[in-house]
Amino acid sequence: MLLSDYYRIIIRYQYLFSFSYLCIMNYKICKHCDKKVAGRIDKEFCSIDCKNKYNYERRSQTKSATAVIDGYLHRNREILATLMGLSNKLTIDKSVLDQTGFKYDYHTSHYLNKDGKTYWMIYDFAWMTFSDQKILLIKKRF
Ligand SMILES: [Zn+2]
Repeated sequence: MLLSDYYRIIIRYQYLFSFSYLCIMNYKICKHCDKKVAGRIDKEFCSIDCKNKYNYERRSQTKSATAVIDGYLHRNREILATLMGLSNKLTIDKSVLDQTGFKYDYHTSHYLNKDGKTYWMIYDFAWMTFSDQKILLIKKRF
C-alpha cells in the first residue's frame, strides 16, 4: 500500500468517527472514581466526597514522599540553631559540624556572592565553607 493510500484511509476514518469523538469528549471523567461528571464545564469530580478523597490521598502521598528529606532539613536547621545560640554570625571548625551528623547535601537554596563563594541556605540559616577546616554560619535576619 502506498503512503498516500494510508493517509487517505486515516482521513476517512477521522471523518467517520469525528461525531462520536465529539460526543465522547462532551463530558468529563471524575478524577477519583472515573464516573461521568455532570454540571459545570470546569467541574473535576462527581461529588464533594470524591474531591475530598482525591485531595486527601494526594496530600498523603506528598507527605510520605517528602518526610525523609524534610526530616534531614529540619535536623540540619536544629544543628545550626544549636551551634549558633544567640549569635548571628559564627565561624567554627568543620570537624564540629561533621560530628553533629550534619548532612551537607540537604539545603533549601543557595546563594553565590560576588566573590564566587556559595552560601548554602537551611531556611533562615546559611553556611559557607572558608577552607577545608573552617565554616562560617549565619542566621538570616527578617
Ligand atoms: Zn467520583
